[in-house]
Amino acid sequence: MSGTGIIWFRADLRLVDNTALLAAREQCENLVAVYLPTPMQWHEHHVAPIQVDLIHRRLAVLKDLLADLNIPLVVREVADFSDVPLAITQLAGESGAHSVFCNKQYENDEQLRDKNVKNALSPLNIQFHCFDDSCIVNPGDVVTQAGEAFKVFTPFRKAWLSYLYRAGLQVQPPPAKVDSNALMTLSDGDIPTFTYPKVNSIDWPVDEEAIRQRLLTFCETKVALYHQQRDIPSIDGTSCLSPYLATGCLSARQCLSVLLNYAPNCLISPDSGGFAWLNELVWREFYRHLLVAYPKLGRNQPFVSWTNNVLWRESDEYLQAWQQGRTGYPIVDAAMRQLKATGWMHNRLRMITASFLTKDLLIDWRAGERWFMSHLIDGDFASNNGGWQWAASTGTDAQPYFRVFNPTTQGERFDPKGEFIRTWVHELKDVPDKYIHTPHLWPEAARNNDPVLFDSPVCLDYPLPIVDHKAARVCTIEVFRIAKEMA
Ligand code: FAD
Repeated sequence: MSGTGIIWFRADLRLVDNTALLAAREQCENLVAVYLPTPMQWHEHHVAPIQVDLIHRRLAVLKDLLADLNIPLVVREVADFSDVPLAITQLAGESGAHSVFCNKQYENDEQLRDKNVKNALSPLNIQFHCFDDSCIVNPGDVVTQAGEAFKVFTPFRKAWLSYLYRAGLQVQPPPAKVDSNALMTLSDGDIPTFTYPKVNSIDWPVDEEAIRQRLLTFCETKVALYHQQRDIPSIDGTSCLSPYLATGCLSARQCLSVLLNYAPNCLISPDSGGFAWLNELVWREFYRHLLVAYPKLGRNQPFVSWTNNVLWRESDEYLQAWQQGRTGYPIVDAAMRQLKATGWMHNRLRMITASFLTKDLLIDWRAGERWFMSHLIDGDFASNNGGWQWAASTGTDAQPYFRVFNPTTQGERFDPKGEFIRTWVHELKDVPDKYIHTPHLWPEAARNNDPVLFDSPVCLDYPLPIVDHKAARVCTIEVFRIAKEMA
């Protein structure tokens, strides 16, 4: 252990169970931490302002936690990834660091950025150490017998589990304190404001205790019912931990470790809530492994090549109706309005709205992928891309193209009394349960003398369905069939 090292935080904003941080502390006597906000990159990659706000708030917490260990946190905004090598080499010069430590990010631009940083450091004799950290089982550690990445979830899950049994699970403690650090002056002052639009994320606490408590409370009181409640948007039945996993305030290993404490049967009992929750953590890993094995996923490409032939519809009118929650399909509109207002959407609703955009409106999944990334507080490239390609039937192990969600029956099934719909589509608050999913069929709306009901069969100011689902379904299946035939 000698000299000074730089620990470079990216999507791993925590001290506990942080592979790079621990390695840095083991190898260096002294440490300086850095975070480099990159507004242009965020802009180009549609990172949601609400997520940036969460990161900003979390950095203040991280700074205090690091200060307790005598490690300064330097936050320096750089416009773009191309400026990052200079920022890192400059900090290495100021601090006299001999090594830089960080955890891998698997997206293409991030990998290229890291390669450039490594190349810039090498002539200066500064080591660059980059670790796998964001998965429980690292990409590449589970492969098929042919040595390839799994393309199907169920065998992936099986191999993932048996790897876990063999390797075991370890959650690393935070690193030991640095004795005394003359570099502490580098972090004087508050975290600088980012030159990026702000959307307040205050509803999401960022302190260590609150995040940990959310995980504990979920595993203690909710996970047992997860398999029964996870699909009902009006119930608070999921963990809502994704913003913390996406930004690395929490590690997936921490989640699994707490889950194993409270629901040890989660590994073997397929009918248990714990099993179902573990499944979701494994989906997260599956999409990350795929991104590493198939870099084309990070280049806007579909997994299934023939789906490049799908003739998507160009329609700003339809896209905007979807974005603004004015499609005339209440469950879709409620979800899209919630997303815009809060940066959050329930998983079932992500599936329904993604299916509606791609299958009912036949709009390219990439438009939806971008919209989600630019609004979600938990925006995560791999999971978002995986979710969109699943819904659009362009991904591996995706929904088959001929299976199209019916947005009305999905609403009836997962929001039977319309509780969720009424929360977000206020125009429909007085519509009786019977018509809450089909307000255009509510006879009262047509007959009622209320002046706001107009003289068409429209409830209040609510639009008629912009497409007929049955007809749209037939058309989409045909478009996909032709695309496949062309291949
Ligand atoms: P829980 O149900 O409590 O699950 C626990 C954790 O498992 C989540 O926090 C998340 O990290 C992971 N997880 C759960 N479901 C999935 C899944 N289907 N795929 C991958 N990981 C999963 N998740 C994101 O984190 N970021 C995204 O940008 C994102 N975009 C999506 C887009 C679409 C179209 C779809 C269908 C899904 C998307 N998901 C995304 C996955 C999923 O919807 C969210 O992870 C989940 O809703 C978060 O809520 P939760 O934390 O309460 O999850």
